[in-house]
Amino acid sequence: MTRGGFSGLDACVHCGFCLQACPTFLATGDEADGPRGRIELMRAFERGELSSSDQGLAYHLDRCLGCRGCEPVCPSGVAYGDGLEEARARLVEARGIPRLAQLALSALTNSMTSQPVYALARLLRDSGLAGTLAGKGRFGFAMGMLAASAAEVGGGRRRSVEVGGGIPRNLHHPSPTSTTSTVLLFRGCVMQGLFSHVHDATIGTLGVNGYEVQEVSSQVCCGALHAHAGLREGARLLAGQNIAAFASSTGPIVVNSAGCGAQLKAYGHLLDDAPEAVRFAARVRDVTELLADRGPAPGAPLELRVQYDAPCHLLHAQRIAEPPLAVLRAIPGADVRLTVDSAQCCGSAGLYSTLEPELSRTVLAPKVERILADPPDILATANPGCVMQLGAGLRAAGAEIPVRHPVELLDRSYRAAGRYA
Ligand code: SF4
Ligand code: SF4
Repeated sequence: MTRGGFSGLDACVHCGFCLQACPTFLATGDEADGPRGRIELMRAFERGELSSSDQGLAYHLDRCLGCRGCEPVCPSGVAYGDGLEEARARLVEARGIPRLAQLALSALTNSMTSQPVYALARLLRDSGLAGTLAGKGRFGFAMGMLAASAAEVGGGRRRSVEVGGGIPRNLHHPSPTSTTSTVLLFRGCVMQGLFSHVHDATIGTLGVNGYEVQEVSSQVCCGALHAHAGLREGARLLAGQNIAAFASSTGPIVVNSAGCGAQLKAYGHLLDDAPEAVRFAARVRDVTELLADRGPAPGAPLELRVQYDAPCHLLHAQRIAEPPLAVLRAIPGADVRLTVDSAQCCGSAGLYSTLEPELSRTVLAPKVERILADPPDILATANPGCVMQLGAGLRAAGAEIPVRHPVELLDRSYRAAGRYA
């Protein structure tokens, strides 16, 4: 058993303070779809009173988003995420993972199979077909997700020459405004496949703020989707490969996906406190943290009403709340606000929106409704799954509101200010 495991659940005193923070409990009203009920199921599983073949156990744990919204509101400090990870790993050891999850993992994260998948997805997206086919049904929603991953017009400049594996080198670095530090970019799989424009904006905005971004070519998927699916050994294998890939470098490892960042910061825990894993995890920084450390430098004014929706894996898992707002507030003229229910999950949660589409959409619906009650010009969030889920939900509701990573908006402001000249 890994450190943590089920033992972090013992502190639960059944007070129920967590229930109103749980999106699946709010969606169904079922105690077993809330943290307190799931904790009882997991403890019964640990004691052997429920077996891995128990349908109710698997059903209610599968329906958990893993958003960890229940953790910060818990007065007893229950380590819900550790317990869920342990339970899912044990269930997977006993019953395997669904075929659809296997296919999705292979299509999105396996470097051998994912490149043609991403190439086809980009073709569908960039031809405009995904946007045309976007809608409410399962297929239409998937097309809406793909359409939401597009770069904004004028963004996503290429600053590099692509070489083996699609990893650019010879990066162009804008003139820094302060002392230069070197940081290493973590590219990930979905981020590299569909959001390379966010990498461009990351490199550009960090450059303006005195960071020189370097590439590490042998890095692999962070393993977050594997860990969430209960494939702990697969996640450990990927962690080992990434630790080896970054071992010869020093300095911060910069990440622009909340899900990847949370996973990379958990490598110490995942690898039982192995010293090299702990050292690696301590180097990981979200791009908004690095930018906020330097201000960041202001850009040109943009008259925009922006609402920021916090990704669970940034806010709850990494406890990063202010830095994304500091990035957005570096844009003079931007009216920056939080969405009404910013701390609550949008229902994306890795493969969840594919594996549990009905509950995922039920969780998303009130958030979209609240956004549309006072619609912004742009919605900002800092995780690829959230960008796609929120973008698809807004399109399905008939709203043309783009969803952007905060660094894309700061990049737009820097371009307008001629910072890259
Ligand atoms: S808030 Fe914490 S202690 Fe209270 S029921 Fe939820 S998990 Fe248990
Ligand atoms: S992780 Fe999220 S969905 Fe799961 S019990 Fe906690 S608040 Fe509810």
